[in-house]
Amino acid sequence: MPKVELHVHLEGSIQPETLLRLARRNHKPLPARTVEGLRRWYSFTDFDHFIEVYRVICACICTPDDFELIAREFLCNQAEQNIRYSEIIFTPYTHVNSDDPVPFSEQLAALNRARDWAAVELGVQAVWVPDISRNTRPAAHSLMVVDWAISGQEQGVVGFGVGGGETGNPPELFAEAFDRARAAGLACLPHAGETEGPASIWGALHRLHANRIGHGVRCLEDPELVAFLRRRQIPLDVSPTSNICLGVALSLAEHPLPRLLAEGLYVTINSDDPPLFNTNLTQEYLAIADTFDLGVNAIERLVLNGVHALLRPLIERAKISEQFRKEFTRLCTEFQL
Ligand SMILES: [Zn+2]
Repeated sequence: MPKVELHVHLEGSIQPETLLRLARRNHKPLPARTVEGLRRWYSFTDFDHFIEVYRVICACICTPDDFELIAREFLCNQAEQNIRYSEIIFTPYTHVNSDDPVPFSEQLAALNRARDWAAVELGVQAVWVPDISRNTRPAAHSLMVVDWAISGQEQGVVGFGVGGGETGNPPELFAEAFDRARAAGLACLPHAGETEGPASIWGALHRLHANRIGHGVRCLEDPELVAFLRRRQIPLDVSPTSNICLGVALSLAEHPLPRLLAEGLYVTINSDDPPLFNTNLTQEYLAIADTFDLGVNAIERLVLNGVHALLRPLIERAKISEQFRKEFTRLCTEFQL
């Protein structure tokens, strides 16, 4: 089925094969020398290991060509899954504050070479969401990153985000950067309500002017917050397998997705860091359909939620939605659903 993806991290989407290639050409050490070994090392064990994997991956991205390669491979993977539109998060400061720094303008130019290639060769579209890690200190570095993001508005940058460890790093630390993003017309896309509870989501809404919430699943702990999110229909980028790996839900069967839907909240489905959580967007849809017995109408609704939450003009979203509906109708006929 046709799909869109709103919440997926470029650095967290690098397949083991690509990491091996990057490490070899940049002479960087890896904890395993084979794809199978790397795949085993990738597999999620706990948050500290996850951060270590992320650190090693980022250390292997050293040149603009590396950015172009990872973006091309990412978009090939999206095309294979029939994901037509992707809003891709990446963390530029990590690659500037590194042993092999690549300036933001060169990062973005390389990403756009991949984007232009994919639009022509694969028929898939992409836009960029630079973010800052909440652990970054001083937090004022976020002002530099938001200025980079604003400078890229004519080159496919549509939003500004904040991710990383939520605990001890409340949204308020980044309020000034998000004020700047909003004033410049960028969408405000913070992660919140993943490892922290409702206070983090309220902060993201009130202080960071969130247009969407990355995760947000812990809103269910506060009925007032649920009512607010329902009234405003603020999209929650839900990533079920990621939530399980990070201990936000114990298992898929216990994931809050059915409750979020029953509360009338605006939910989209995403893969977050797919190979690190041993998943992809197709797999996420298959898993929720299976576990929660969601029929084709419920799945189509979730896909169309994604379309209507895209950071694109209303008229374009309407066109994409109409196209997707037609394809769902055709698929239902073909597979007698
Ligand atoms: Zn994320």
